[in-house]
Amino acid sequence: MKKIVLLGPPGSGKGTQAELLSVKENFIHLATGDLLRNEISNKTELGKKVKSYIEKGLLVPDGMIVDFILDYIRKNDLYKKNVVFDGFPRRNFQAEKLEEELSKNGSGIDKAILIDVDENTIIERLSTRLICSGCKKIYPGNYEDDECFVCHNKLIKRTDDNIDVIKNRIKVYKEETTELLDFYEKKGKLVRIDGNDKPERIFEKIKEVVL
Ligand code: ADP
Ligand code: ZN
Repeated sequence: MKKIVLLGPPGSGKGTQAELLSVKENFIHLATGDLLRNEISNKTELGKKVKSYIEKGLLVPDGMIVDFILDYIRKNDLYKKNVVFDGFPRRNFQAEKLEEELSKNGSGIDKAILIDVDENTIIERLSTRLICSGCKKIYPGNYEDDECFVCHNKLIKRTDDNIDVIKNRIKVYKEETTELLDFYEKKGKLVRIDGNDKPERIFEKIKEVVL
C-alpha cells in the first residue's frame, strides 16, 4: 500500500491531483485544509482554535495539527491503505511525526511529490478559483456554471482566497514549508514535477511516479 505526500505552494494543484488519485486510483485523499474547515463549520473545540490562523493564512501550531492528523490516521486505520496526504506535513516536525506514526504499522512515506508552479500563476488561480460548498471540488474561476456538476451544490469562494491572505500563504509556504524539500530529498523520496501544465498531463506524470 502506498503513502504519498503532495508538496507545492497553495494553488499548485495538490487538491486537484489528490482527488484524481482518489477517484481513479483508489487512494484515500487526506485533505488537511478541508478537514480543518469542517471543524470550523461544525464549531468544534479544534475549529474554534484554528479559525483565526486560517483566516490570516498562518500555519496552525504544530502540536494541534499533528495530534489531529495522527488521530485521524488511527481512527480510520489508514496504515494498510493507499493514502495521498494533501496539506500535511507542512514542516519538518510534522513530517517526522508522520514517519514515526506510519512506521509503527507499516512503512513510512513512499514518495513526496513537489508540484512546482510559478508564483504569478498561483496568485491568478487562487484569486479566481471556486470550490463546491458540498463536496469541496475545486473549479477554475471561468467555469461556465454556478453549481457543482457532481453534487449540484453552489460554487463559492474560499474566505482565505483573497489577495492579502493569498500573499501571506505564499510567504508562509516559502518560509516554513520549503524545509520539507530537504527533508524528503535526504531520504531519497523527493520527486519534482513541473506543475505549469494541464491537470491531466500532471496526473500522468504523477502516475508514473506512484504506480
Ligand atoms: P492551501 O494549501 O491552498 O493554502 P489548505 O486548504 O491546504 O490550503 O489549508 C488552508 C489553511 O489551513 C492553511 O493556510 C493553514 O492555516 C491551515 N493548515 C492546513 N494544513 C496545515 C498544516 N499541515 N499545518 C499547519 N496549518 C495547516
Ligand atoms: Zn460538489
